[in-house]
Amino acid sequence: MPALASSARFLLKSLADFIFPPICYGCDSEIEAGLVCEACRLDLFTHELAVCPECGRPCTRTAETCGQCEEKFSLTRVRALGLYVPPFDKLVQAFKYSGKTKVGELLGQALAALVRQDEVLSAADAVCPVPLHPARMRERGFNQSLLLAAAISMSTGIPLVEFLVRKKNTPTQTLKTRPKDRRKNLERAFRIKPDAGVDGKTVLLVDDVMTTGATLDQAARELLKGGAASVLGVVIAAAHAGGRPSPS
Ligand SMILES: [Zn+2]
Ligand SMILES: [Zn+2]
Repeated sequence: MPALASSARFLLKSLADFIFPPICYGCDSEIEAGLVCEACRLDLFTHELAVCPECGRPCTRTAETCGQCEEKFSLTRVRALGLYVPPFDKLVQAFKYSGKTKVGELLGQALAALVRQDEVLSAADAVCPVPLHPARMRERGFNQSLLLAAAISMSTGIPLVEFLVRKKNTPTQTLKTRPKDRRKNLERAFRIKPDAGVDGKTVLLVDDVMTTGATLDQAARELLKGGAASVLGVVIAAAHAGGRPSPS
């Protein structure tokens, strides 16, 4: 009987694939199987973006600096898989807003690969997700950054530690938010947990998207205030890199 049930399931799946062929989550092209096409998989695992030599923000390999160096930034080094353009924006949206956890797992693997091949990031003492406010967590049902941080921790062996809590449910930061308002929105947004044990540690902060960097910056400030030796960062996508803001 179970064999019959499983062949029925297989037939149904084949029929569904015939009517609705699988579509790449990164670019909408038809694929044979899986989540993304070969081109998007390559994008995920080639790590096109480098780091700005002046300030540590993500930066294209051809640009001399990121173009935002003058704004204060508390992290030493931030890596991103790519710019917030296809396929990265589509993949983030599928994961974050449509709850496609399989896409999240793939993004987690790609981030883990990036951390493993970066000498500085892979030497961190702890991996820490940017926390969600409890109200936002209830709405979404999961913290995307925690899932990504867990994948990195599992793959690299760097311990996962949730040092921070979010005290303020800040509005989503967009490129249209003025820098001054962004900072104001985020003031005292994060608190370090009592007895977090961050003293002297190099912490790798994990978030999904770096829009302006203000969120990562505030979280890093709190960690440094708590005694962290330095703070690094890794994100799926960066909205800016080398003075070329993405269209969104
Ligand atoms: Zn694709
Ligand atoms: Zn810079």
